[in-house]
Amino acid sequence: MNTTASANLFSRLFDNLDDPSRLAIEMLDGTRISYADLIARAGQMANVLVSRGVKPGDRVAAQTEKSVPALVLYLATVRAGAVYLPLNTAYTLNELEYFIGDAEPSLVVCDPSKAEGIGAIAAKSKARVETLGADGKGSLTDAAASADAAFTTVARANDDLAAILYTSGTTGRSKGAMLTHDNLASNSLSLVDYWRFTKDDVLIHALPIYHTHGLFVASNVTLFARASMIFLPKLDPELIIKLMARSTVLMGVPTFYTRLLQSPNLTKETTKHMRLFISGSAPLLADTHREWSARTGFAILERYGMTETNMNTSNPYDGDRVPGAVGLPLPGVSVRVTDPETGKEIARDSIGMIEVKGPNVFKGYWRMPEKTKAEFRDDGFFITGDLGKIDDKGYVHILGRGKDLVISGGFNVYPKEIESEIDAMPGVIESAVIGVPHADFGEGVTAVVVCNKGADVTEAGVLQALDGRLAKFKMPKRVFVVDELPRNAMGKVQKNILRDTYAKIYAK
Ligand code: AMP
Repeated sequence: MNTTASANLFSRLFDNLDDPSRLAIEMLDGTRISYADLIARAGQMANVLVSRGVKPGDRVAAQTEKSVPALVLYLATVRAGAVYLPLNTAYTLNELEYFIGDAEPSLVVCDPSKAEGIGAIAAKSKARVETLGADGKGSLTDAAASADAAFTTVARANDDLAAILYTSGTTGRSKGAMLTHDNLASNSLSLVDYWRFTKDDVLIHALPIYHTHGLFVASNVTLFARASMIFLPKLDPELIIKLMARSTVLMGVPTFYTRLLQSPNLTKETTKHMRLFISGSAPLLADTHREWSARTGFAILERYGMTETNMNTSNPYDGDRVPGAVGLPLPGVSVRVTDPETGKEIARDSIGMIEVKGPNVFKGYWRMPEKTKAEFRDDGFFITGDLGKIDDKGYVHILGRGKDLVISGGFNVYPKEIESEIDAMPGVIESAVIGVPHADFGEGVTAVVVCNKGADVTEAGVLQALDGRLAKFKMPKRVFVVDELPRNAMGKVQKNILRDTYAKIYAK
């Protein structure tokens, strides 16, 4: 494998800039960062990293709030040939101990308030610690301010690591997904084309940057397109609606769209400057899709990806954006649905395991060769763990994580099928169906339902409405009406929490 500076993601991002003075990032306080600024800052920070002993291939772990310097740290790490390892800002010291112990970074960057606790953990792995706060201040930026901006981008091979992102690990320990320079560059470039990004685009960036969605999909795609982004610390629906007047694209998790729909200010008028609304990271309810179209005239473009694979499928830019479907395989990506046991491809429209192959697919799990081997087929397809089907038009549909499949009385019950029935009932906003240990059936199908305020939704009512629509073995044994479903920061319903909450309801 050739090692060249041009294979480095940083070079692929920024070499051949035609106009370095273009705006790259805008902050709410009026700060405007051009492409030239971004490159210069990345040079300064890369020099600091090297001076702190970071060598090519070393991991740089960062638990930092979203800020421009935090994004610069990512770019600088890649530029220095090191491996960026972002950590969810919600992780506790106990969790960080695992990540730092596992990844053995040579440098850990954290909020000044956490320097002491993290310092003690880092010391065990002989890692240095630098600080970077939400306001962009800290020992790292202090040092960078006086560092030289000139830095020669370190040569890398296409399949050298650029980043390690830990999976959320709702079952078992989190695994570090190793992403190469080419995984990231090829996927972003393909998305720029597919979603028709140009330098005139302005992205509303309100996602966290410790996750693949905000870091790679949102930031890399914008930068590859020479477009600009407005960096927001978090989701603020009214502010986002205001910004739509001078923006063109929003990328969000489904919660963004449900929250925005709650505002009466979301109208055809307030969205008319936009060209594209993209959703991913968790299933977008078909109802949300339809409501959004009715209110704004825009069909949300839903896409499907994961930490290990970057983006796999997307609804088309031109052509049908189908509610409830995640679209077609991206160019160069192969998607197939197989029998989970045998790995044999199954017929169109049959439900099975989604497997993917392509330049987007990661290199393996960090220091877990066995786990990596177990999740790849011999012909190179990665077993995503998502159950789904491909319809006769080639659109992929996701029916949930394999681990969320409910097996009741020996029969497979796909939660999505029951959730869709319940979601369509009057007064219901959304639902989650889980399997809970049951003495007779192994697992008892259990529905947890959220309804509109004041709606008359009851357990008996839901069961009655389902009766006759679902085979008996799919019928929920219990239905619970709750105020909201537990979600993580990426808008995913945390079914593991629901399973724990209702663990004992069928105990004898
Ligand atoms: P993460 O690695 O945190 O990005 O999570 C990846 C998982 O999120 C996938 O394996 C899917 O289960 C889920 N996911 C991502 N996008 C979608 C989508 N558009 N619809 C349904 N599930 C999705």
